[in-house]
Amino acid sequence: MAKLLISLNPGAVMLDVNILDLHFLGLEKTISSFLIKTSDGPVLIETGPHSSIQSLEKGLKENGVETEDVKHVFLTHIHLDHAGAAWYFAQKGASVYVHPFGVKHLADPSKLMESARRIYQDKMDYLWGQMHSINESQLVAVNDEQTIEIGGVAIKALHTPGHAIHHIAWQINDILFSGDVAGVKIENGPVVPPCPPPDINVENWKDSIERIKAAGVSQLYLTHFGVIKDVDKHLDDLELVLDEWAFWIKNQMEKGTDAESMTPMFQGFVADGLRHQGLTDRQIEQYEAANPAWMSVAGLMRYWTKRKSAEQA
Ligand SMILES: [Zn+2]
Repeated sequence: MAKLLISLNPGAVMLDVNILDLHFLGLEKTISSFLIKTSDGPVLIETGPHSSIQSLEKGLKENGVETEDVKHVFLTHIHLDHAGAAWYFAQKGASVYVHPFGVKHLADPSKLMESARRIYQDKMDYLWGQMHSINESQLVAVNDEQTIEIGGVAIKALHTPGHAIHHIAWQINDILFSGDVAGVKIENGPVVPPCPPPDINVENWKDSIERIKAAGVSQLYLTHFGVIKDVDKHLDDLELVLDEWAFWIKNQMEKGTDAESMTPMFQGFVADGLRHQGLTDRQIEQYEAANPAWMSVAGLMRYWTKRKSAEQA
């Protein structure tokens, strides 16, 4: 009788991941945090904005975790919808793991908040809440391909610019917590690329997509929102829509359309596409909350303008 070989991989720890819906603005499935339990306590990936901290604390409690128990917070990047509540956990003693470019903005968020306030004005508190500084001793800058090990779970950083220069996708075994670099996809809707100013770079983004493909993961955990199992197809679709959006904006810029008139046109273009794919008004609202059209207009216009001036230099 042939000898039965059982392959046991002693290094692989079964991963216990809980997706916590932050019910951003009362909407389901727009922003999430991920809770991972390890033998050395809970790890949180993403905190969401401070405005949804109550939902997050409720979600933690339902999983038997008190806020004070969270000693390790990993951020994919420092945009407010991902990192806005990190300071809250730091005040209760957590270390915050972030891209080296993000450290100074979390230590002193005044610039981050100033530019957000210029955009959101009196809606600032409602949308994002507050952001306070994090003690530098609690901020851990993580280099590309660096692995942090917590309670037997190895968490590896993949620097993945394109959406933001301070973006990290965190890999654990064959799972990737992809922040925004693998796009936004809600329920049965299509994947779309969130393109806020100021860092959008289509070439870098495509390189990051290739990098994620090469990482050989079998699941993507999207912050907006949920688990993707057909990884290659999802990433191929993302790349197509990224090009489609980028060239839509370029085309309008060449026609001389300004940002103000372009925004409702782009919003209509995106909503029509979603409606075509059978999405309801409610679902289109979820997409708009996770990824506002005006933001992508501003981000892609800035990208093309920067590229043009680089070409002329
Ligand atoms: Zn973002």
